[in-house]
Amino acid sequence: MHDRIPHKIQLAYKQTGDNRTVHCYKCGSFHEVSSCASSSICPACGCHIDFKDIRINNRSSCLVDTRGDLLIEKNGYLFCAKAICKNAYLYGSLSGSLFCEQNLTFASSGLVAAKLTAHSIEIPPDSRIACPFPIHAHNISVHGFLRANLVIDGTINIFKKGIVEGSVTARGINVDPGGELIGQLEIAPGKPKKTDPSAEVATAPLRVTRRPRWDATKRVL
Ligand SMILES: [Zn+2]
Repeated sequence: MHDRIPHKIQLAYKQTGDNRTVHCYKCGSFHEVSSCASSSICPACGCHIDFKDIRINNRSSCLVDTRGDLLIEKNGYLFCAKAICKNAYLYGSLSGSLFCEQNLTFASSGLVAAKLTAHSIEIPPDSRIACPFPIHAHNISVHGFLRANLVIDGTINIFKKGIVEGSVTARGINVDPGGELIGQLEIAPGKPKKTDPSAEVATAPLRVTRRPRWDATKRVL
C-alpha cells in the first residue's frame, strides 16, 4: 500500500479490499472490481453493470442488469426482455426472461410467462406456479405446486406435499414421502456434482404418469 494513503483508508481497504469477479452477460467476459464498488463498466464492451438491489412495486419495464438482488413486490409487475440479478424474490408478476446467478424464490402463485434460469429455485409450500416455458436450473426445491417442464443439470427435490407436473430432465431426484412428480422423468447422463449433498437417487416411490396435456393459458391452478 502506498505510503501517502492515510492509515484509516488503508485499514478500510484491507477490511473490504477483496475483489469480486463480475460476469458481463452482454459480451461474456469477466472482470474484477473492488467489493465496495456500487457499479462497474465492462472493460471489454463498455456495458454498465449495477450492483444495487432493485425493488419493483408497480408496473415497470426497466432494464434490470444487476449483481444485486431483485425484489418484485406483491403489486409489482416487471416486463423485461432479459432481467439479470444475483437473487430474485417474486411476490408479484413477471414476464420476459429472468436469469439469476444464485437463487430464485417464488412467493406468490399464478402463471409466470417468463423464461427462467437460475442456479437454484425454491417453490415454497403455499406457491402454485405455472410456467409455459422450460425452466432451467442447477437445483430446484419444490414444496408447493409447479406446472412446467424442467431442465435441471443437478438435482430436483420434491418435498412432502410438493407436486411437479410436467416433463423433467435431471441428473438426480429426491422425492420425499408425500411428494409427487406427474409427468415424464428423464435422468440425464453423468452424475450430480459431488459438492451437492442432496444429489441422491430417488428415496420414495414416484408416481410417474404420461406427460399431461396442459394449457399454458390456464390461469386457475
Ligand atoms: Zn461486456
